[in-house]
Amino acid sequence: MLKSSLLKMLEESKYTVVLSGVGMVLENGYSTLRDSDDSYEIEEKYGYSVDELYCSALFNTRPGLFFEFYRNEILSQIDIPPGDGYKFLAQMEKDGLVDAVITRRVFALPERAGCKNVVNLHGTVYDNYCPSCERTFPVSYIRESKKVPLCPDCNTTVRPKVCLLGEMVDNAQMTRAAEEVEKADVLLALGTNLHTPLCNQMIQYYDGDKLILITKNKHFSDKAADYVIYSRVDEALKTLLYK
Ligand SMILES: [Zn+2]
Repeated sequence: MLKSSLLKMLEESKYTVVLSGVGMVLENGYSTLRDSDDSYEIEEKYGYSVDELYCSALFNTRPGLFFEFYRNEILSQIDIPPGDGYKFLAQMEKDGLVDAVITRRVFALPERAGCKNVVNLHGTVYDNYCPSCERTFPVSYIRESKKVPLCPDCNTTVRPKVCLLGEMVDNAQMTRAAEEVEKADVLLALGTNLHTPLCNQMIQYYDGDKLILITKNKHFSDKAADYVIYSRVDEALKTLLYK
């Protein structure tokens, strides 16, 4: 696919929605903790797998261990600022080439890069609340807590408003995301394959014929896209749009 044809498609599109996948987060230097080295280290350190740790069952039964893992392995990553991939998305939104970004990643990288219309299907680590009195807390409150962060008003465990394993995606976010995708002329799937939960959930609402996939890794489901570019997302957006 040529630079000119992608740019033309985006310029002609009345509404363009981005599905921002895990590949963008990895490009940005974040870890899912699931590659073999990381996941081995986590099991050694905590005695549980990442899936067992990032899980509502553990949050409810062993909050001390949950927050130790969450602070050390998840929140420690937010010091890495958003990189070029997200900055290009924000620029594209400003230039009228992107109208909405949908992601399941919880680090708010699109917003931190300047994107305005973002649907965070799994919430973000920046939103924390007391389930009893609804008081909200900044991420620093969790980060600086020594043990289990408690609400000073009612002594309830404060929790991140993220979707842990074993929990349902927030209905309002799901509806908002579906409505965005239904409006889309162009659907840009970035740093993902079409069989990920993000794409599985969202593509069913897409009615157009310009599903464009930009990904580094080939996958058998790529043929379901209308156009495919094999590349890192940041490099593809840079060379295709801004060179
Ligand atoms: Zn409270």
